[in-house]
Amino acid sequence: MSRKYLIAGNWKMNKTASDAVDLIGEINSLVGDETSVQVCICPPFTSLSKASESVERSQLLLGAQDVNAASSGAYTGEISAEMLRELYVSFVILGHSERRQYYGETNQTVNKKILTAIENNLKPIYCIGETLEERESERTLEVVRTQVREGLENFPTSSIDSLVLAYEPVWAIGTGKTATDEMAQEVHAEIRSVLTEMFGETAAASIRILYGGSMKPENAAGLLAQEDVDGGLIGGASLTARAFVGIVEAARGA
Ligand code: PEP
Repeated sequence: MSRKYLIAGNWKMNKTASDAVDLIGEINSLVGDETSVQVCICPPFTSLSKASESVERSQLLLGAQDVNAASSGAYTGEISAEMLRELYVSFVILGHSERRQYYGETNQTVNKKILTAIENNLKPIYCIGETLEERESERTLEVVRTQVREGLENFPTSSIDSLVLAYEPVWAIGTGKTATDEMAQEVHAEIRSVLTEMFGETAAASIRILYGGSMKPENAAGLLAQEDVDGGLIGGASLTARAFVGIVEAARGA
């Protein structure tokens, strides 16, 4: 089963709308016309409108960093799936460890958002991963299994093509520490085996599982060469065009 690599940049709470236009311009000119790898940028909500104009007529896709589970209503400060779709947003990062840590998101609350995203034709990038304490107590595989099962409960098999997962060991996010190629492959293979139990072999073989956690041009090739690593979710290195496109190039060569 061939899965097209996806390299997605999670800008987190960085860049104003005008900064975003500049950065997208730089990424665009470095990425060029080759389309063997899908490339997506996920700026903050306030930049999405300008970003959607800037990615027009380019191969860059647009993602958001969250969505509310409800379709509309009295949810002050929140953003709906319909609002994102109007801005040509294709992907939405859900369940990122920072949202779990700082905003109390759980597998159950993230599950609701994933189902809302799918109903509205947004492709979820569902983030999972263990903390340092969980890894040190050898609970990584159990934690990740539970996150997959609970977060994807009732996910419709008919929409499996739209599902992306991102394995992001919490201890590797923004720390400069990266999982070794073997560590990443071990967990990715385990994730695919849970997906096989849930959705069957053919569907599981088609789902992209990204690695995230201090990925940069220097370590990307090794990680992307692993059988079950189908791309990257990039934080820090997505904020400079050269580093981000360096990872895209590593994916093109993998
Ligand atoms: C992330 O936040 O999704 C991430 C992977 O961050 P970083 O690349 O900075 O570790």
